[in-house]
Parts: sequence; structure tokens; C-alpha cells
Amino acid sequence: MELRKNYINGEWVRAISGKARNIINPASGEVIAITAEGGVEDARLAISAAKEAFYGKGEWRRMSAQSRSDLILKIADGMDARREELARTDTLDNGKPLREAEGDVDDAIHCFRYYAGMIKAPYGGVYDVSDGFGPMHSYTIHEPIGVCGQITPWNYPLLMAVWKIAPALSAGNSIVFKPSSTTPLSSVILFEIMDQVGLPKGTINLVMGSGGTVGQELAESKDVDMITFTGSTEVGQEIAKAAIGNLKKVGLELGGKSPNVIFADADLEGAVEWAMIGVFFNQGEVCSAGSRIIIEESIKDKFVARLAERANAMTLGNGLDNPDMGPLVSEEHMNTVLNYIQSAKEEGATCVCGGYRYTEGECAKGYYVRPTIFDDCTPETTIVKEEVFGPVVTIQTFRTEEEAVTLANDTIYGLAGAVFTTDGARGLRVMKEIRAGITWINCYNPTFNEAPWGGYKMSGYGRELGIHGLEEYQEVKQVNINLAPGKIGWYEER
Ligand code: NAP
Ligand code: MG
Repeated sequence: MELRKNYINGEWVRAISGKARNIINPASGEVIAITAEGGVEDARLAISAAKEAFYGKGEWRRMSAQSRSDLILKIADGMDARREELARTDTLDNGKPLREAEGDVDDAIHCFRYYAGMIKAPYGGVYDVSDGFGPMHSYTIHEPIGVCGQITPWNYPLLMAVWKIAPALSAGNSIVFKPSSTTPLSSVILFEIMDQVGLPKGTINLVMGSGGTVGQELAESKDVDMITFTGSTEVGQEIAKAAIGNLKKVGLELGGKSPNVIFADADLEGAVEWAMIGVFFNQGEVCSAGSRIIIEESIKDKFVARLAERANAMTLGNGLDNPDMGPLVSEEHMNTVLNYIQSAKEEGATCVCGGYRYTEGECAKGYYVRPTIFDDCTPETTIVKEEVFGPVVTIQTFRTEEEAVTLANDTIYGLAGAVFTTDGARGLRVMKEIRAGITWINCYNPTFNEAPWGGYKMSGYGRELGIHGLEEYQEVKQVNINLAPGKIGWYEER
């Protein structure tokens, strides 16, 4: 098997240590690729290349927005040309159904095109001011931050990479990117595409390797100006600590335990379908998953029966065959999910459907868990409090709107949330009370390049996507111009 290498300073290179890692297809347990396993020394080389590209030659940050935009559009075209390969790669690496991987690739292509356009739009203000020193103009310009370290998780391997790389690169920064060790393969293809485009040497660097070494070095290094991270809240806390040394800017997109609040007046079939999308899409390995259903007591039994019927009908299988759900990302993660399921059973929640590893036919070789619903959950149930990151949903009930809001906000997280009701005013009222950065009314999970993505509370800080996502990767400079140059006699004429 050919070794997939790191990309540092415009060259494809082995890890300095010579180490490599086996990459596994979770549908079969088979090794599908071997990747270079970088360490601290590889990360340092990449950081110094990125630093030289930005502070030394500075070609990319000095290039006109038009020329940068043209090159970024070529990346999007290059991805378009390899769309099927990218999608198949994420399915093989992560397990997700192919049609969901294809959707990710399309979103990623649009993300590059979105920012390629945005950097040519005018922004920043000009102020006509005067404060006793005479007439002045004050204006603001946006500049890139410098060397950006970027670290991503395994649930949306390509899309999470592009949410970071597209705005950071468009803004004129240099990048050292570290994908999840579990799912690095689509990043290698993305870097092949970016290599073909002809960006200035050292502008983009890929270092595969573990979080504890490569990731930690990116967070700690005094030569990195900004670190953006998507992953678990625990690791996010480590990153924030490591970043203190040079007070680098930090962006954190962390975990969630998001409420899906359903009122009795909601369209029941619609709410069932969106609830499924909310928690079983991408095997439930979604940071914004609607993993806590909070439902009005009077319709609970009917809703749960219908949800269980639909969940039991879901097909599981190899993602390439487009089942409803693929395998979980790894054996280790499957065991974590199964342990959470076990804890719920021991704590007295009622397992309505699923709740076990699925091993029918071909699935015996992979890491499959049936879609799982737990009824009779309380605020103390472990899986109500902690992120499972799998196809597991909890059911809690309420009688009043106030009680629904209290339950919804009873979490350390604040990433997302949804409300289902046909009472428009109530939908808006409840939404306003939910302490979360991403919310939906009468739907769950649709996400757009145009809209900012990020969390409240322990789900992190900063926003990706939209204009906010570009501004995260920019400094703002004020420029003040004296319109009447010359002596003003400040010290003489009082
Ligand atoms: P994770 O264990 O936190 O790992 C995420 C990334 O951080 C990986 O690349 C990992 O490298 C790296 N890492 C691990 N320890 C590190 C350290 N000490 N310093 C620097 N980097 C380190 O998360 P995961 O298991 O991959 O992904 C699941 C989590 O991501 C969930 O909590 C989920 O909610 C969250 N997530 C959030 C969003 C969002 O937008 N808010 C989106 C997707 C996922 P290795 O792979 O080498 O361990
Ligand atoms: Mg991990």
C-alpha cells in the first residue's frame, strides 16, 4: 500500500521518525490506507514553513483579493472534478452513507466558492471624525492574522477541514492543518488539489499525527498566531490552556447535548421525521445532534411509538451501499457508545428500541449500533447529561412551556436546539429562551455556508461560516488620517 504523506513547505514528505499509521474502514475492520505519522518535529517544520510564507515572503497575504479569489475558485473546481473520489473516501474512512458524503463534498465546494466571492466584497467602515485635533478620516481594514493551526475531528472529515481552511486561506493566512488521526484520507486529496493550484510555497501544510503531539504543538507553539479546533470539550479546554503562552487567538467548536422540544400542537409526522434526521443522521455522530427529545406529555406515547417504528425500519450497512445508517467510526468509539447504552439501562431508563451492536450478515465485521431510543429519562440520567455522539436519543416530558425551557437549558452545553409547534409566537418565544448558538424551528440540522455556526456555554467560542467565519481569521486595523497636516500648536497656544 502506498504511504500517504504529509505536505510541508510544498513537498510531500514522510514523517521524520519514519512512523506510519494504519487507517481502518469501520464497515469491515480492514486496513484501507497507510499514512505518515508526524510528530512534534514535523509540526515544527510545518510551522516554520508557514511562518516564512507569511512573515518572510508574504506573497499570499499581499496578493490582490481578485488573484486570491481566482486561485480559491480553482480549488473548488479541482474538488468538483474529484467529487466522487472525495465522497467515497469519506465513506470508506468514516463509515457514513455515500449520499451523505456526497452532500458534504458539495457543501465543501460551495464553502470555498462562498469565501472566494466574499473577500472581494467591500467591508470595513470609513468615519468622518474630528475631536479637537482637526478634521480626520478614520477607516478600518481587515488583515490576516498570520500562522493558523487548525485541528479537526472525524465526524465530517472533509467538511470540517474546509470550514476552517476556506475562510483562513481566503483571508490571506498561512495554515498548518492537522486532521483527525482516525479519518485523514480526504484531507490528503484536498491537499493534492490545493498543491495543483499553485499557492505560494509554505502557505498550506498538512501534518498527520496524533493530537497529543502534533495537535499539542500547534496549540502551544509561540510561532502560531491562532489555533482553531473542532472536537470534544475536554480537548478544547486543553487547547485553550496550551494557547496561553503567546496569547494566540483561539476558536473552539466543541461538543453538544442539544434539546429538541416538541409541543402537542406540532405536526406529528413531520416532527418524527426531523427528530430522526436530528439524531440518526451521520450515525448520530453530529455535534449538533438533537439527542434530547423533550416532549409534551400528552403526545409522548404516540410520538415515541411512531419514532420507534421508524427507527426499527432503518437499514444499516456498508456506507457505499447507501443504507439509512453506516457503522460508527471505530471499534473504540462503538464501545464508548455501547457503554453509554449500558449505563442508561442500569440507571432505569426504558430502552424502547435498539440498544445493541448489530451483527447481521456483512455487518458482523463492522462497528454497527442499532438506532436507540431511551424513554423515562430524568435530568440525572448519564446519557441526558453527557454527549454520546452516536445514534442514541433520550425522551423527557413536560407539561408547561416554562418546564420545557428549563429542561432544554439544563445542560453545560449550548450548541444547538429546536422547537416544533404550529403556534408561531410560541416557537419564537421558546427559541429566544434556549441558550444555544444554532437553533431550528420545525426542522432539525439544516446548515448553510451563509449562517454563523458555533456554541454558547461549554460548546465553545467563536463562529465558523458566514461573514463571522471570515472575520475570525482576520485582525482589524484602524487607520486615522489627518486631513490638515502641519503644526497644530497643541502645547503653545492654550
Ligand atoms: P477529539 O477527541 O476532541 O479530537 C479532535 C481532534 O483533536 C483530533 O484531531 C485529535 O487528534 C485532536 N486532539 C486530541 N487531543 C489533543 C490535544 N491534547 N491537543 C491538540 N489536539 C488534540 O474529538 P473527536 O473524538 O475526534 O470528535 C468528536 C467530538 O467533536 C465531539 O465532542 C463533537 O461534539 C465534537 N464536534 C464538534 C463540532 C462543532 O462544530 N461544534 C463539529 C464536529 C464535532 P487525534 O485524532 O490524533 O486524537
Ligand atoms: Mg478522538
